[in-house]
Amino acid sequence: MTEPQNTGTTAPDQLAPMPDDWQRALAVVAHPDDLEYGCAGAIASWTDAGREVAYLLATRGEAGIDTLAPAEAAPLREREQRASAAVVGVDTVEFLDHKDGVIEYGTALRRDIAAAIRKHRPDLVITLNHQDTWGGVAWNTPDHVAVGRATLDAAADAGNRWIFPELIEQGLEPWNGVRWVAVAGTDRPTHAVDARPGLERSVRSLLEHRAYLEALTAEDPEKYCRSFLGGIAEQLAPRFGGVPAVAFQVFAR
Ligand SMILES: [Zn+2]
Repeated sequence: MTEPQNTGTTAPDQLAPMPDDWQRALAVVAHPDDLEYGCAGAIASWTDAGREVAYLLATRGEAGIDTLAPAEAAPLREREQRASAAVVGVDTVEFLDHKDGVIEYGTALRRDIAAAIRKHRPDLVITLNHQDTWGGVAWNTPDHVAVGRATLDAAADAGNRWIFPELIEQGLEPWNGVRWVAVAGTDRPTHAVDARPGLERSVRSLLEHRAYLEALTAEDPEKYCRSFLGGIAEQLAPRFGGVPAVAFQVFAR
């Protein structure tokens, strides 16, 4: 098996390797577990290589467990998310106070994300599928659409001192250094990362969402995580030189 090379002549259906000349990334998603359904495997490889990755979650996923009231679910899911991040080498996990299930796309959300981008000064911003559907077959949730779109927008907002001038009053100077926004879980991938080095940790990372998984599936959680994450990585292999992959749609800035 050969490692895929970016020759500049990559066929449209072949995925290019993710850019690797960067040091800091900020991953912005709606809910605990959003990053663990695939993306965390790539994050494990990046932190192994000495890169810094921080997580920003718009909510605590408090509406995610039918049998648990939001007041109890929020701290539980926050703890699970922190444990899950630690498995892939991420120590910085921050939460905004948007409401799970009813996140509104708008300037308040863009401002909160722009503030985080100014604070963390990432080269790479990661988010989750902002399209209407998952692969054209399942309807996406409004939270993912709102946070994905707002993150793509906020990467530019963060660099403009005249948008959200109140952030400057808070000491958050413009950051115009975001070079790419990479969207995980997309059905229009352009780039990929070898899933193999981080696969085992991505399974353990998803398993940390134990209360959520127990409510979600009657299947053995480990079997479920391994088959789900292994399956999506294998599905992408034909488009990445035969290498199981974590894929992203990369928007360069
Ligand atoms: Zn989600």
